[in-house]
Amino acid sequence: MAVTDKEKGPKGGISTFIVEKDFPGFKVGKHLDKMGCRTSPTSELFFEDCEVPEKNLLGELGHGFIAVAKESLEWERSVMVAPHIGLMEANLEDCVAYAKERKQFGQPIANFQAIQHKLADIKIAMDTSRMMIYRAAWLKDQGRPAEMEAAIAKLFSSEVASKAASEAVQIFGGYGYTRENRVERVFRDSKLGEIGGGTSEIQRMIISRMLLRGAR
Ligand SMILES: Cc1cc2nc3c(=O)[nH]c(=O)nc-3n(C[C@H](O)[C@H](O)[C@H](O)COP(=O)(O)OP(=O)(O)OC[C@H]3O[C@@H](n4cnc5c(N)ncnc54)[C@H](O)[C@@H]3O)c2cc1C
Repeated sequence: MAVTDKEKGPKGGISTFIVEKDFPGFKVGKHLDKMGCRTSPTSELFFEDCEVPEKNLLGELGHGFIAVAKESLEWERSVMVAPHIGLMEANLEDCVAYAKERKQFGQPIANFQAIQHKLADIKIAMDTSRMMIYRAAWLKDQGRPAEMEAAIAKLFSSEVASKAASEAVQIFGGYGYTRENRVERVFRDSKLGEIGGGTSEIQRMIISRMLLRGAR
């Protein structure tokens, strides 16, 4: 994305380009060591006096921000959170099995109501997230606007997935804090959902802005 008309700013002054790796002025910087999602490499990218031919313009001139805000981000928010359902499913599977296996005070920890309630809360978080994500995806499939629904699905599912991941580590106790099991990894991976594709703060801003403009 690059500013092609400073005066217009985000309203028609930003355009999208395809930048090839060998274009002058484009450089890949250092690899960034992340806390989670480590199978997906992330690094710095530098665009310094980067020359891009006109034919590499993607879509119409000046439509970059509009295209991203209205199209890509809605899609991204609708689909990028679907893996959270998978994370919660994995958590639930691991936690149910571990709660039945781990014995304390002469009985499986699954017998303790405090543990049972955590399992129930993870299940509720997973099912409600699934419904919200399906609603946004259903609207997108029909070509209907889904800005509010995608923001709600993204915000809600990422926050409850993070909470569920934390509770899963709690169910595993000290073992959950080691790298010998999946709940530790899910705990680190799930945090990205609250940041990538627009932070939770930005999603709340989008939802409230739409409400104040008259959306219901
Ligand atoms: C692993 C990873 C992969 C990513 N992949 C991509 C990708 O493929 N494509 C891509 O485009 N981006 C990608 N991102 C970038 C991601 O979208 C941004 O990190 C994210 O949108 C937050 O922006 P920022 O990092 O600049 O945080 P900042 O904007 O600096 O935010 C810092 C804090 O301030 C808050 N804040 C900022 N502005 C406001 C405001 N107006 N009101 C209230 N609070 C505010 C934020 O919510 C946050 O809490 C990726 C990020 C990560 C970590």
